[in-house]
This record gives sequence, C-alpha cells and structure tokens, in this order.
Amino acid sequence: MFPERRMRRSRSRNIQPLLREVTLTKQDLVAPLFVDENLDEPRPIGAMPGQFRYPVSGIAAVAGDLARKGIHAVLLFGIPKEKDQEATSAYDPEGVVQQAVRRIKAEVPGLVVITDVCACEYTSHGHCGIVGETRCGPDLLNDPSLELMDRIAVSHAGAGADIVAPSCMLDGMVASIRAALDSEGYEEVLIMSYSTKFSSAFYGPFREAAGSGYSFGDRSTYQINPGNSREAFLESQLDAAEGADILMVKPAGFYLDVLAEVATLGLPVAAYQVSGEYSMIQAAAAQGWIDRKAAVLESLTCIKRAGADLIITYFAGEVAGWLDEKQ
Ligand SMILES: [Zn+2]
Repeated sequence: MFPERRMRRSRSRNIQPLLREVTLTKQDLVAPLFVDENLDEPRPIGAMPGQFRYPVSGIAAVAGDLARKGIHAVLLFGIPKEKDQEATSAYDPEGVVQQAVRRIKAEVPGLVVITDVCACEYTSHGHCGIVGETRCGPDLLNDPSLELMDRIAVSHAGAGADIVAPSCMLDGMVASIRAALDSEGYEEVLIMSYSTKFSSAFYGPFREAAGSGYSFGDRSTYQINPGNSREAFLESQLDAAEGADILMVKPAGFYLDVLAEVATLGLPVAAYQVSGEYSMIQAAAAQGWIDRKAAVLESLTCIKRAGADLIITYFAGEVAGWLDEKQ
C-alpha cells in the first residue's frame, strides 16, 4: 500500500517502455481485400473511405504492396459477375476469388492467402447459402447449405488458398469442410472459422463493399444476438471440437469480453475489426474529433490485449508503415 507501493514509479518516461505488456507487430495483422470481377480499375468504397474494390487484374499488385510492407496474410472477398439462387459462381474454378488466389500465389508466393468461404456475395437473395421454407417462413437452410460450403472451400483450396475461412455460421460447417478438404487431398489447408460471429449493425459499410445486402429478412437466425455471451462461447467451443485450426470473434472492439473468453479454448484466435469499426474511426478523424493514428493503434492494441493472435483490419497496410516509423 501507499506510500511503499507507488504505481507511478513504473510509469516514469524511461521505465515505461520496458514494462509495456502488449506490443502490436505486423505479424498480428491480416488485410482484407475486395476483388471485383466487374471492374477494370480500382473503385473507392464510399462507406469505407480509404478502401477500394480491386479488379482481378490488379489484385496481385495490391497484395505485393502489402507483403513488401511486412503484412503476412490477406483475406479475400469476391464480387462475382453472376449471382443466382444457388451461388454457383462461388465454386466456379474460374470464379473471381479462385482467379485472384492463383494470381497472388503466382506473383507473391510468400504471402498467406485466406479466403472467405460464404455465399452471400454470390446469391441473388443475398443470404449466406441455400434458402427455403422453414417453420417461420423463408430462411437460410442449414444442412443443404453445408454441401455448398464444402464445394466453395475445396475450390479455393484447389486454387491455392492456404487457409479457408467459413463465415456463414452454419451448424456443422467446420466438420463438413474439414472432411471435404481431406477427401480431396487438402489436409494441409487450415480452417479459420468465423466461429463467434454476432448479428451486428457494424457490418453496414461492408455490404456496400462486398455487394452482399439481402433481399428479405436478416441474418439474425444464423448469427449471434449481441447480448448473448454463453451462446457466443459455445459456438467457438463447438467449432474447436469440429477441428477448426483458428477461431474468430467478429466484430472485435465491442466484443472484447467474448474474445478473452474464446482465447481460453487453447486455439489461436483471430478478431475481425469490421467495416463499421473502421468507418467510425475514419469519420470521427475526418471531422477532427479524434487523433486518427492514435485511435487506430489504441483500437488494435486493445484487441490484442484481450487475447487476439491475429487481427483482421482494414488499417493493416497503413499500420505496417507506422510500425516501421516507430522502430
Ligand atoms: Zn455470408
């Protein structure tokens, strides 16, 4: 107790850096990228200032820039030319993500390529799989959608993806995809499951980015209610048991309690700082209301402090540059 115990002693200017508990590094960061089959030039995403959709032809150059900055992994989302009820373009060997993966692997072989495995960018109704009638009206059908996810994951692995990341929150998706990958000889491909994904308002800007708005209902019958932490933990626990290599909590900043709990499961955990988290910082900074760089670094440091091994963030490339400056 005071006066023997003086906490401020260890916060003096020269001692403080020695005692820092959590330091952000480039290896912590994963950069999400949007690849759009309909484009010839990068197109800015209005709701996410500073972010772009890229054409397939330009994606390897963007990935190469990130790799040169020290970013170790990218997470790809595709926007296809064609959408239909069954998301057939999602598992087309010549689909947008499959082409992008091959180009990145050819030109930036050292970069880890993660692919988002879902159907919402590829379905005409915008839901994450096969829809049909349920007891409560039209909704995402679980078991018929599993086979679709298997096909998407196998096609991404075939194109060269190192990690597939199912984001649809279907029951049994990890076990199903693991079995499908193994049966095709892709036992080396990891599964990073969006294991605890909340039904969040903070995904709003992403829907413009990925063109994945839905035509009816919402995703609250497959994503988790933001108020539920027991359910959130159980979702990740089940995905761990099904064989996920990496778990994920999404969004990140408002769910640090959940992230800390999921980190106790003993598997690596990723946290996704989502579009709304990004755009709020961008918007407040543009108004001059916060110090952008300090706010970005604080947001990411706190996500790591809560237990994230990987942070998926739209700030990745820029932060890599800042981390260089500091050293
Ligand atoms: Zn989806």
